[in-house]
Amino acid sequence: MSPPRFILAWFAAICLWLTPLAALAAEPVGAEPEIKILPMPVDRGTAARVLVEGLDENSGLTGMFDGRPVFFFPAGNRLIGLLAADVMLSPGHYPLTLKWNNGAREVDVTVRDRAYGVRSIKVPDRQVNLSKSDQDRAVREQKLVIAALETKSPRRLWREPWVDPVGGQVNSSFGRQTKMNGVLNPRPHAGADYSVPTGTEVRAPADGVVLLADEHFFAGNSVYVDHGQGLISMYFHLSAFKVKAGDPVKRGDALALSGATGRVTGAHLHYGVYLSRARIDPVAFHRLTSLLPSGEDLRPRRSQAEGQAAQPGS
Ligand SMILES: [Zn+2]
Repeated sequence: MSPPRFILAWFAAICLWLTPLAALAAEPVGAEPEIKILPMPVDRGTAARVLVEGLDENSGLTGMFDGRPVFFFPAGNRLIGLLAADVMLSPGHYPLTLKWNNGAREVDVTVRDRAYGVRSIKVPDRQVNLSKSDQDRAVREQKLVIAALETKSPRRLWREPWVDPVGGQVNSSFGRQTKMNGVLNPRPHAGADYSVPTGTEVRAPADGVVLLADEHFFAGNSVYVDHGQGLISMYFHLSAFKVKAGDPVKRGDALALSGATGRVTGAHLHYGVYLSRARIDPVAFHRLTSLLPSGEDLRPRRSQAEGQAAQPGS
């Protein structure tokens, strides 16, 4: 026996009335943000801007790409994030996963290959075939560096644009593989080498806090600076330190003097930039920061003002 007709009519009316409400609850009006990734495709070993319109800084927007967080900051009426394609990431398609308070989106990102080339160098044999004590030392130092890279500020400490740490010319570009004493090292060169004589002042390319200033087997005297939101810069083969761990630095402050310490063939500055642990080309990254909106738009939010009061150098 079928239910009385008036019950069916009543049920249909309730459903019709509820459907738009349910749709509204799932997708509030104005919750469809516009997302742009520039440039696209993204070359391995570089970063790209993720521009989001239609969401504000209270939307709780977070991003994830290749297992690495993408941090966002407000700039005018939109949010900007920086996405990093590690130098070893194979070309192909990868999702950028975005989540916010009442929504989520997956955006396809194309990662393109880039030819970085191979260089050949000769170094003393003891620096290739490490003694037991040198090997132990290198492993111990690597652990210290990894631990230091973990202690990074979720707060953005830097302002654009980033500036070159020294005035010298880049003589060995980022991403090259190295044939060392005839043997190819599969790990690519994770920084840019600047040809500068020992004693050249090395300056902070952007505001931050010194994470580590120490002497290491491979990198020699090294300085690591945390710029917040996953950005870390590093300086190797230095002859003297001008900072110590914990020091706040402003863009242009002296960090150290360049030199020829550690495993080197001659005096130069090795300068590296990591974004969420991805190794990216520092020179290309500097160009990218010059495309970001100027500082005026990026001043800390009023609600963050207290937290910013203890910012480095201020
Ligand atoms: Zn180097």
